[in-house]
This record gives sequence, structure tokens and C-alpha cells, in this order.
Amino acid sequence: MSVTNGVAYDEGNIFARILRGEIPAKPVFENEFAFAFHDINPQAPVHVLVIPKAAYVSMADFSAKAPAEFQAGFWRSVGEVARQLGLEGPGYRLLVNAGTDSHQEVPHLHVHIFGGRPLGPMLVRHD
Ligand code: AMP
Repeated sequence: MSVTNGVAYDEGNIFARILRGEIPAKPVFENEFAFAFHDINPQAPVHVLVIPKAAYVSMADFSAKAPAEFQAGFWRSVGEVARQLGLEGPGYRLLVNAGTDSHQEVPHLHVHIFGGRPLGPMLVRHD
């Protein structure tokens, strides 16, 4: 399933349920803006998701609607999570899927943090 930008926020999505404590997660970091936890199906030795603690479907939704202070607090948190994971030295990759072409599966904005090994090319080529 993919989600498109502009859809209404679904309070039943899996990350909303994690934020409400209805579904367990392996937490990494939490503050007033963000919650970070291990991805259930890791694609790298370190694969952590950082989500805003507010109802935003996607990057489009968040960037258009979240107050500036909240946006700053969220992105600072993403950097802080990477620091706390010890990834600043070796390096890491951030990824945000948004909408249909990206195959965003969960309709709550989430930033993937990948690290722990050389990560290879940025995208799989199909040409
Ligand atoms: P995306 O394709 O960008 O929407 O990524 C969704 C991510 O959420 C995938 O990497 C999934 O493995 C991950 N995921 C789905 N359900 C859970 C869960 N309950 N706990 C942790 N990660 C999850």
C-alpha cells in the first residue's frame, strides 16, 4: 500500500498506535518533538525511524503545516539521534519516503536513519 500526499491523517496507522503505546517498539530516543525506535525490518546494521510526536501524514503535510518551532525541534532531534547512535564519525544516510512513487507505506511522517556499514549507491538503478 502507498499513501499520497493530501490524504487525511489516519489515527489508526501503526506509528500513531506506537506513539499511543498500543503497539510495542524498541525505543532509541524521545523528547517533546520526536520519538525514535528501531525499524522492525532493518535494512542496515543500524536502521532507526524518527517520527514527529504529532499527526502529520507526510513530508508535504509536515513542511506545510507544522509550526516552525516544531519543525526545528524535530529536525534537531533527527541529528541528535544520529549523534547518540554514534554515526557521526562513520557517517549515515537519511531517507524520507513521501507518497506513491516512493512507496511510503505508513501514513505518518518518518525519517529513516541507516548506518553501521558502507551503504552503497543511493538508489537502485532501473535503466
Ligand atoms: P516506508 O516504506 O518509508 O513507509 O517505511 C515504513 C517502515 O516502517 C518500514 O521500514 C517498516 O519495516 C517499518 N515498520 C512497519 N511497522 C513497524 C513497527 N511496528 N515497528 C517498527 N518499524 C515498523
